[in-house]
Formats: sequence, C-alpha cells, structure tokens
Amino acid sequence: MNIILFGPPGAGKGTQSKYLVKVTNGIQVSTGEMLREEIKKETDIGKLIINDMNYGKFVDDKIVNELIKRIIFDPQKKNKLIFDGYPRSLTQAKNLDLLLKDSNQKIDIIFFLNVNKDTIVKRIEKRKSIENRSDDELNTILRRYDTYMQTTEPVLQFYSKNSNFHEIDGSLEIDQITRKIDTFINV
Ligand code: AMP
Repeated sequence: MNIILFGPPGAGKGTQSKYLVKVTNGIQVSTGEMLREEIKKETDIGKLIINDMNYGKFVDDKIVNELIKRIIFDPQKKNKLIFDGYPRSLTQAKNLDLLLKDSNQKIDIIFFLNVNKDTIVKRIEKRKSIENRSDDELNTILRRYDTYMQTTEPVLQFYSKNSNFHEIDGSLEIDQITRKIDTFINV
C-alpha cells in the first residue's frame, strides 16, 4: 500500500507515518529526514540546502524530486511507501504521479491532517524542547507555515477530488487521529 500524509508542519505527519509503517509493514519516506541526513553527512546536496533548511524555506524541487526518484524505483520499497512531507508543491505532486506511473504504482490513500496555526506554534515549540531541531525557532516556524499556505495548499486542490482522499482533524490527540486513520486502512 502507498500512502501520502499531507498537512502543515507540526500536524503530526511524522508520528502517524511511523504508526502506518508499523501496521502496513511500510517504509517511511520523509524528505525532511532525508535532507537533514544530507546535511549531517556534509554531502554536496547537504551543502547546497543547509541555508534554506535552517531558514525554513523549501528546498529546490529538483533536488527533492531526485531523492524521491531513487526511492520509487527501489524494488525493495515498491508499494510500501508512506510519504511524510512529500509532495509539498504542485511540481512535486505532478512529478510523483509520473514516477508512480512509470514504476507501475499508484497512491492508495491520501490523509490530510488539518490543523490551525495556533496549535502548530504550540506543538512545534514543544518539539523544539525535545528534538532541538535548528528549524524549530518561532520565526522559522511561522515562515514554514506561510510557505506551506502559499506553496502546498495548491497540492490540496490537486488531491482533494480523489475518492481516496480523507481529511482528518489534526488538532485531535495522537491516538484519536490514529483511530481515525485505522478506519480507512484494511490490513
Ligand atoms: P519536515 O521534516 O518535513 O518538517 O521538513 C523540514 C524542512 O525540510 C522543510 O522546512 C523544508 O526546508 C525541507 N523539506 C522537507 N520536505 C520537502 C519537500 N518535499 N520539498 C521542499 N523542501 C522540503
């Protein structure tokens, strides 16, 4: 099963995707994690993206699309993809469509975790105290939210007409969200 978790930063995509990995025997595809890994390992890509990432700006579509391509064509990962944080722009959504077609795959379910700005700010400030991520400063959080509204909202329109699109209230407690997700997956 291939699943997309969609929603603003701090909506709980990471937490729920880890749950989905467990119950569907899937593989988490977190572009944020992949990009942070590039920075940690000081790769050429890491050096290119470090400023944008720390500032809370989106990384160039071309870089992210290239990282995703490697995963989609990995036979070990076929039909096990749990997307967390991708696609985040219309270009990425269209790219994903093409790559899936070319690899004989499709998206089975799209979950949209909808949550408002106030809740996000509170959650990310809490996460900052636990994970100490360099992009979790308040100004950066607000910038990331604005970028989401400008760039990622159109992706919502792209997917929301699909019959496999499900909107879930992301301000609920973690286990309440998990229970709602459970009602849509048959494993
Ligand atoms: P996340 O861990 O999903 O919150 O992502 C952290 C940061 O990584 C974002 O603020 C962006 O700078 C970058 N990033 C993650 N996924 C993407 C993506 N699909 N497109 C562009 N930038 C991304």
